[in-house]
Amino acid sequence: MSLGIPNAPRGAGHLRGAEPFPVAARAALANTQLRRNLGKATATIRAKRAAVVAELPDWEELRAAGEAIKQHTLAHLDRYLEQLEREVTARGGTVHWARDSYEAGRLVTGLIRETGATEAVKVKSIVTDEIGLNEALAQAGITAHETDLAELIVQLGHDRPSHILVPAIHRNRAEIREIFLREMAGVDPGLTDTPTALTEAARRYLRRRFLSARVGISGANFAIAETGTLCVVESEGNGRMCLTLPETLITVMGIEKLIPSWRDLEVFLQLLPRSSTGERMNPYTSMWTGVTPGDGPQRFHLILLDNGRTAALADPVGRQALHCIRCSACLNVCPVYERVGGHAYGSVYPGPIGAVLSPQLTGVEDNASLPYASSLCGACYDACPVRIDIPSLLVHLRARHVEEAADDRRLPSAEAVMMAAASWVMASPARYAAAQRTSRVGRVLGRRGRLRRLPPPLSAWTTARDAPVPPAQTFREWWVHEHEGQA
Ligand code: SF4
Repeated sequence: MSLGIPNAPRGAGHLRGAEPFPVAARAALANTQLRRNLGKATATIRAKRAAVVAELPDWEELRAAGEAIKQHTLAHLDRYLEQLEREVTARGGTVHWARDSYEAGRLVTGLIRETGATEAVKVKSIVTDEIGLNEALAQAGITAHETDLAELIVQLGHDRPSHILVPAIHRNRAEIREIFLREMAGVDPGLTDTPTALTEAARRYLRRRFLSARVGISGANFAIAETGTLCVVESEGNGRMCLTLPETLITVMGIEKLIPSWRDLEVFLQLLPRSSTGERMNPYTSMWTGVTPGDGPQRFHLILLDNGRTAALADPVGRQALHCIRCSACLNVCPVYERVGGHAYGSVYPGPIGAVLSPQLTGVEDNASLPYASSLCGACYDACPVRIDIPSLLVHLRARHVEEAADDRRLPSAEAVMMAAASWVMASPARYAAAQRTSRVGRVLGRRGRLRRLPPPLSAWTTARDAPVPPAQTFREWWVHEHEGQA
């Protein structure tokens, strides 16, 4: 399909200077405070989600409907994007197209400069993190103020988000209090770490910015093609302030956030809050269509971002990742995420969805370790409200990585040599039986039924986990003894 974006380059979802996952995960695992914070937070969200999902007898039908809508939309994305552009323009908005993060950053910077403003207030938006918007604006002398409480904590702490929904999930109340005392201008020096005191401090700090901002910046949870309506869902009301108070509103939206009609929105507004915050309905659902004279922003710009999405769309298996509605349910059930947190993924999109989306946005080679950051337990698939088969995607991306790495190499890798040797052994019953007999040497090295250290290259396995010692009798020997021996 053509989106009118020839040779669209891939995205920039990998964080500059980030370590590969195995290195970063090892460091994260040593941080017991981080693990405590994550374990507590994810267990709480999991329990809330399970309770509200159990209330709906047609939850599985809703999931299937969400999946079908996303499949249909992506199959006709070019048509629906053009319809969206027409409808937004007809209602007084301006639509821009950005191939990558550079183009999107340049567009937003230029639009803010046109207003003469040097500050903007922001609704929580992962896509603006993906394109590094705050950094691009800072280089142009424009300050972007995060207004979501968790994003504000991350920004004031000079930190990075570690969760899609709860960006400061790795911080506890005492740490947040310290950040506020250190970084928040005008904060009460007697600030305590109760939730009420912390939110009150943030409210006072942000109120001044809301009232003086001339430009608001947002992402979008959904865009409805039939009327050109944009939709943002949130819990704090800060988004509503950013979307209504400034004179100019700039929305940056990944092209996959589109849905055809209002009927489709009904499905997602049931799936999303239950899966993300464990609520029946999110507290604030803001929708706007173009510009309304005398009401809200009088200039509205919509930037439609590719940044690797058409490359993902070109992969018939991988494109499923574009169905994601960023609810974060897969993060909260993932045993790997719960232990290492979001920073270890080195990507704007952490957890299971990050492991399948980021390598496709950047090209597999730039996030090569992420498809391996999973035990393939399948909990993410069960939790996903739009039924993205993340385990199968992970396996698919691992295969792509192996194939692309093989194409780039002149000599076969150690893994390829071992696989070829295993294939040769397993192709012959006699060779396989001989290999099994030889493996019994391992019984001498084992202790209490486990092998804790093997020589290279097998040490790559035993440095992180142990292995059972080979049994005294192989299955074949047992079979001969039990069946053929008695015949
Ligand atoms: S992959 Fe599914 S569960 Fe994970 S964030 Fe996206 S929609 Fe939610």
